[in-house]
Amino acid sequence: MKTVIVTGGSKGIGKSIVCGLAKKGYNIVLNYNKSKEEAILIQKKLKNCGFYIDIFQADVSKKNQVDDMIKYVIDKYNKIDVLINNAGISQIKPFMDIKEDEWDNMIDINLKSVYNTSKAVLSNMLKYKEGLIINISSIWGIIGASCEVHYSTSKAGIIGFTKALAKEMGPSNIRVNGIAPGIIDTDMNKELNDEEIKQIVDHIPLEKIGNPEYIEKCIEWLIEDEYTTGQIISIDGGWGIN
Ligand code: NAP
Repeated sequence: MKTVIVTGGSKGIGKSIVCGLAKKGYNIVLNYNKSKEEAILIQKKLKNCGFYIDIFQADVSKKNQVDDMIKYVIDKYNKIDVLINNAGISQIKPFMDIKEDEWDNMIDINLKSVYNTSKAVLSNMLKYKEGLIINISSIWGIIGASCEVHYSTSKAGIIGFTKALAKEMGPSNIRVNGIAPGIIDTDMNKELNDEEIKQIVDHIPLEKIGNPEYIEKCIEWLIEDEYTTGQIISIDGGWGIN
C-alpha cells in the first residue's frame, strides 16, 4: 500500500486529505506543527474506525525538522510514494505594512517548506524511480490578491516550482502537480464575516464556497492517475476563469 505524507494535516484541507486517504487504506503520515491535540484526536477517531495513521510534529519551514521527519518515514515504511505539500499560513495586510519578518515567515512556511520536503523525499523517490508530489497553491498565486502580496508571491512561487520540477523529474517517473483552490471553508477564512463571504460568493460562477473534501477528491484522482504532471488544477467554482 502506498505511503503518503500530508503536511499541515491537523486542520482544514490537510485534515480532510488525511481522513479521506486513510479510509482508502493508504499509509498516512500526518505532519503538524502547533496543533498537537487536533492531530492526536484525528488519529484516535480514525483508529476507532479501524484505520491507523502516524502523526509527526515538524515545522516544515525548518530543514532539520523536515529531514528528521522524512528519516522517520523512510525507516518505518522504506518507500515514500506521495508527498502532499499542504501546510500554509495566510495574512491580510497592505503591502506597505508588511514587515520584513512577516515577509520572511510567509515565504519560509509557504514556499521554502516545499523545497525542504521535496528535497528530502526525492532521494527516496529517485531510488525507486516512482513518486508523486502535490503542492497546494492558491487562486491568488495565479491572479494575485490585493493586500496579500506576500501570500500571493509564495503561492505563485509554488506554481513555478511545480512546473520546473515536473520537467526535471518526468524522466525519473516522478510526477509533480499543483492544486489552486479558490475559497475553501476552513479556519484560514474564519476572520471573514457573512457579508464578506457573500461578496466573494457573488464573484463565483458556482455561487458557493468550497469544502475541503473537493480538494481531497482531486488528490485521490491524482494518486491513481499515471499521466498528469506539471499541471496546476484550479478548484475554485470558476472564480478564477479569465
Ligand atoms: P488551516 O485550516 O489554517 O490549516 C493550516 C494547516 O497548516 C494546519 O494544519 C497547520 O498546522 C499547518 N501549518 C501551518 N504552519 C505550519 C508549519 N510551519 N509546519 C507545519 N504545518 C504548518 O488552512 P487550510 O485552509 O486548510 O489551508 C491548507 C492549504 O491550502 C494552505 O497551504 C493554504 O494556503 C491553501 N489554501 C487554502 C485556501 C482556503 O480558502 N482555505 C485557499 C487556497 C489555498 P498546525 O496548526 O499544527 O501548526
